[in-house]
Amino acid sequence: MSDINDLYQELILDHNRRPRNFRRIEGAARMAVGYNPLCGDRVTVYVEVEGDVVKDVSFEGSGCAISTASASLMSESLKGKTVTQAVSLFKKFHGLLTGKAAEDDEGPALGKLKVFSGVGRFPARVKCATLVWHTFDAALRQKHEKVSTE
Ligand code: ZN
Repeated sequence: MSDINDLYQELILDHNRRPRNFRRIEGAARMAVGYNPLCGDRVTVYVEVEGDVVKDVSFEGSGCAISTASASLMSESLKGKTVTQAVSLFKKFHGLLTGKAAEDDEGPALGKLKVFSGVGRFPARVKCATLVWHTFDAALRQKHEKVSTE
C-alpha cells in the first residue's frame, strides 16, 4: 500500500542528495532571494528567459530536504516551458499543496511534482516546498526584493 509513498520519498531524498541545477548563472538577467524563517530555508533562484521560453533555471542556497528537493524538481520541470506554462505550473503546484487544486486541466501536467502532494498534510512543510516557487515567481517578475514566507 505504501509502495507509492516509498517511491515518492525516494525521489525527494534523491533530489536532496544530488540536487539538479544547483549552480549560479553568472550574469543572470533575473534572480530573486527567498527565505523561510520558520525552517531556515534560504534559496537564490536564477532564471534565463529567451523570448517567451524559460531557457534555464538554477538555484543556490541551503535548506531542509523538502526545500532542496522542491528546488531541484522545480528547475527540471520549468526548463523549456513558456512563461505562461511556468506560471500555470506554479499555480497547480500551489493548489496541490494547499488543497485548492485548480479546476482546469489546461497547461502542463504536474508529473513528478506530485511527489509533494503528501506535504500538504503538514502546513509548516508546505512553506518549505513552495518557497522556491514563490522565489522563481519573483525572479520572473524581476522583483529584486527578498521573498519571505512570513
Ligand atoms: Zn524547510
